[in-house]
Amino acid sequence: MRTPLVIGNWKMHGTLAEARALAGGIREGLKRPRGVQVVVCPPFTALAAVAEVLAGSPIQLGAQTCHHEAAGAHTGEIAPPMLVELGCRWVLLGHSERRKEIGESDAVINLKLRAALVHGLTPVLCVGETTEERRQGLTFTTVEGQLRAGLAGVTAAQVGKLALAYEPVWAIGTGVNAEPSQAGEVHGYLRGLLSELASKEVAQAVRILYGGSVKAENVDGLVAEPEIDGALVGGASLTAAGFTAIVKKAARVGAASRE
Ligand code: PEP
Repeated sequence: MRTPLVIGNWKMHGTLAEARALAGGIREGLKRPRGVQVVVCPPFTALAAVAEVLAGSPIQLGAQTCHHEAAGAHTGEIAPPMLVELGCRWVLLGHSERRKEIGESDAVINLKLRAALVHGLTPVLCVGETTEERRQGLTFTTVEGQLRAGLAGVTAAQVGKLALAYEPVWAIGTGVNAEPSQAGEVHGYLRGLLSELASKEVAQAVRILYGGSVKAENVDGLVAEPEIDGALVGGASLTAAGFTAIVKKAARVGAASRE
């Protein structure tokens, strides 16, 4: 059985004081989260401060991206060992905003993913189609291409160590989430591909999160889908009340669906 996983992606938000207050509020609101794993991904500048606030709590720390080399002449970049040193255990890779704004290709995302695994970070590989791709009936082709390229050269055992996030681009930050059944269909497709790329056992163990306008009001329906193992949350992770409500609902619905 897969433990639900909820990840907050703070994106480029928060002064140090704001990040500390948000992390403190989440820690306070989730003293003993049961039946759910929780991760927050603050901006790089706030990682050390948030790590201090979360020390000794079950809430884990993640980064929003990383470079694929361990060190070198790469101005402005952050290497996986630097993240590990700060207490990060997770890293988001292939987020659609980075694919679009920074031009990250599948090949680069694959290099990053393999580097993250080597350095002991758990990658969360994000895939998802644009509005136009969905309109043209290319949803499955798009996510399949992103998944196959992202996992190129990754062993079955390594696949078992990562998580996936299905994030339709048209649902990110728009307030329009995918219908649970619509997302569930894509998750099922991705799990089938994982069976092929790794094994059925590995595919059954990998958490596949849904992301795209998740909030406390819609998370129940999404995580009630058997193939949806939690959520990657952007906007609604920026308040402690909103994020903790999502986590609690994901834990409750996850537990109920396992009964
Ligand atoms: C995201 O950026 O990963 C995301 C899902 O954002 P939002 O929840 O704001 O749609």
